[in-house]
Amino acid sequence: QTLDLITEWNNLSPSIDQLMISSSPDQVDRITRKLLEMHRRLTDLILQNQNSHFKEYEIIRKSREDMIFLFLDVFILFLLIISLVAYLATQLMYEHKNILKNRIQLMNELEQKNDILQRMAMIDDLTQVANRRYFNLLFDQEWHRLLREHQPFSIILCDIDCFKLYNDYYGHQQGDICLHRVAEILKQSIHRSSDIVARYGGEEFVILLPNTPLEGAIEVVSKIQEALKKAHLEHLKSIVSDHVTLSLGIACMIPSAMFSPELLISQADKALYLAKQGGRNQYQWVNQS
Ligand code: GH3
Ligand code: MG
Ligand code: MG
Repeated sequence: QTLDLITEWNNLSPSIDQLMISSSPDQVDRITRKLLEMHRRLTDLILQNQNSHFKEYEIIRKSREDMIFLFLDVFILFLLIISLVAYLATQLMYEHKNILKNRIQLMNELEQKNDILQRMAMIDDLTQVANRRYFNLLFDQEWHRLLREHQPFSIILCDIDCFKLYNDYYGHQQGDICLHRVAEILKQSIHRSSDIVARYGGEEFVILLPNTPLEGAIEVVSKIQEALKKAHLEHLKSIVSDHVTLSLGIACMIPSAMFSPELLISQADKALYLAKQGGRNQYQWVNQS
């Protein structure tokens, strides 16, 4: 169309030049019409051109917009994925933290229960001194240690006098309280960290005195008797006193590979028997050291 117009203009140009020199009204009219026609077509062409440019511009603008929107979509998707991953990671960490917290709590509870169980396995519930099982363990340990060190080992067996009569008169519950009080007195009468009081049987206690000769054991026994006298735990049915008393059997020896550890206990038992035979509320001893 543009080429057509240029050709027409080229054709028309000499006519216009002629028009300047001489012109007939017909010629002027024809050329004017032509010019008007050309003007109209030119305007159309310009308008068409403008339209196509506008369309092109629109397409470019739209494609740019599309690109931006696509970029935004991708960016939002990326943010969503990141948020989702962060959320899942937080949830996972939270769950992990909870599991860890529960495990720690469980471990603490287990430790506490273990402590209680261990204590229960070692301590006599009624008197709160070492029980027979713990005594056996400690006695064996100390025997072998003193065997190596060649040092004296004393033990004292203590038996409450006429305790059956006490129970019969004051009742079993009061009997339990009395056992607890006697255990307390025994504990207060020993001072070395290696000395141990244990409940040996019903109303019998045993005291371990490692690295202690017979004289030392007798000293401890005297302290016990003094403390019992001072405590004056009433026992109106006793055949030997008006308060709770003990018969005590002491045995002492330097452990030797020639003897079994049980020998020391049986000697203390023998001494206790002698104390009972001798009239109770007294101590007897067997010394081999
Ligand atoms: P003895 O002077 O010869 O030792 O006489 P005893 O009565 O103390 O000795 P016996 O062996 O005849 O009786 C021991 C009593 O100790 C019998 C029992 O009722 C009491 N006893 C043993 N264990 C417990 C206990 O855990 N609680 C109470 N309350 N009494 C107990
Ligand atoms: Mg007894
Ligand atoms: Mg007794």
